[in-house]
Amino acid sequence: MMEPVLTIVVPCYNEEDVLPETMYQLQTVLKDLIHDSLIAMQSKILFVDDGSKDRTWELIYKEGLRNDFVRGLKLSRNVGHQNALLAGLFTAKEQSDCIVSIDADLQDDIKIIRDFIMKFREGYEIVYGVRKGRESDTWFKRCTAQAFYKVMNKMGVDLVYNHADFRLMSNRAVKELERFNEVNLFLRGMVPLLGFRSDLVYYDRLERQAGKTKYPLKKMLGFAFDGITSFSISPIRFVLMTGFVSFFMSLLFGGYFLALKFFGRTETGWTSLITSIWLIGGLQLIAIGLVGEYIGKIYKETKHRPKYIVDIDSFTIPRLSNHPLIQSKEDGNGGLDFLKVSETHK
Ligand code: UDP
Ligand code: MG
Repeated sequence: MMEPVLTIVVPCYNEEDVLPETMYQLQTVLKDLIHDSLIAMQSKILFVDDGSKDRTWELIYKEGLRNDFVRGLKLSRNVGHQNALLAGLFTAKEQSDCIVSIDADLQDDIKIIRDFIMKFREGYEIVYGVRKGRESDTWFKRCTAQAFYKVMNKMGVDLVYNHADFRLMSNRAVKELERFNEVNLFLRGMVPLLGFRSDLVYYDRLERQAGKTKYPLKKMLGFAFDGITSFSISPIRFVLMTGFVSFFMSLLFGGYFLALKFFGRTETGWTSLITSIWLIGGLQLIAIGLVGEYIGKIYKETKHRPKYIVDIDSFTIPRLSNHPLIQSKEDGNGGLDFLKVSETHK
C-alpha cells in the first residue's frame, strides 16, 4: 500500500502563547509517522489563522518559510472556529488523502493521531476522537457540556457523545462535506450525516497548554443554540405542542367558569383573567421568536455567502529553502492509487 498523505489542520485564534509548543509537538508526531512509513513524506500541518490580533500569523508564516512540514493559511478576518476549520479542510483536501483536525491548544492527545492513521489504513473514512472523561474541565463546563449532549440527543440530532472536533476524515469525506451548502455550520452534527464507515478512538483530554479559552460562556451558548436550531425542528414542535395543550386547557377552564356562572357565582375575578392574558401573551412571544429564528436561518442560507475568504496561502509564496521533500511531491499520481485501495476495502 502506498502511504497516504496526511494533513493536520489546526485552527488558531490568538494562540501565540501555545503555538510554538504546538508546532513542535505536532511535527514530532508527523515525523514519527513518516519514519514508521505510516504516512507519506509530503504530509503537512496546516495552521489556519482565524483573523488573530496577536502574533499568531507571524509565527505561522515564519515557520512555514523555514519548515516544509508547515503550511499556513490566513483568513481575512475572524470567522469563528467552525468556519476556520472548514477553510482548513477544504484547502488541505487537494493535497491530502486524509485530514486530521485538532485544536491549537494541545488539549487533545496528539499521540492518538497514530491510531487515527491505523484506522484509516484499515479502511475507515471517518475516525472520531472521543474523550474518556472530563476531569480536566471546570465543573461548570462539564455540566453544561453534558446538558448540551442530552438536549441535542432528545431533539434527535445524531452527535457522537463527548466528541469535539478532533477527528480524521478521508479526502472523499471532506469532498462530500463540501456539498453541504449551509452557512450555519455545526460540523459535529454534519460529519455523522456523511455516513461513511467510521470508528471511535478514546483518549484522555488534557488541560489547555497555554493561553486562554476562546470559548467564553456567551460563545458556548451561541454555539449550542446554533447547533440545535440548525439541526432540529423540535423546538418549534415543542411550541406547537404547548399551544395545543394551552388551547385544551383553556377549553376546560372555559367550561369550568361557565358552570360557575350557571350556579350563580359570577365573581370569578380579575386574577385568573390577567394571568391567562400574560400566559398566552408569553407563549405567543416565544412562538414568534422561534419562528423568527428559523426565518433568520432561511434568510442566511438563501444568500449563499462564502463561508470564508482566504487572504494568504503560504503555498503560493516563493520558498526560501528548497527542501528535497517538496520536489518529491510531484510523483505523478498524487496519492490517487491509495484512494483506490481504500475503496476496494469496503
Ligand atoms: N478558534 C478559532 N476561532 C475562534 C475561536 C477559536 O479558530 O474564533 C480556535 C482556537 O484557536 C482553538 C480552537 O478553536 O484552536 C478551540 O478553541 P478553545 O481551545 O479556546 O476552546 P475550548 O477548548 O476552550 O472549548
Ligand atoms: Mg481548547
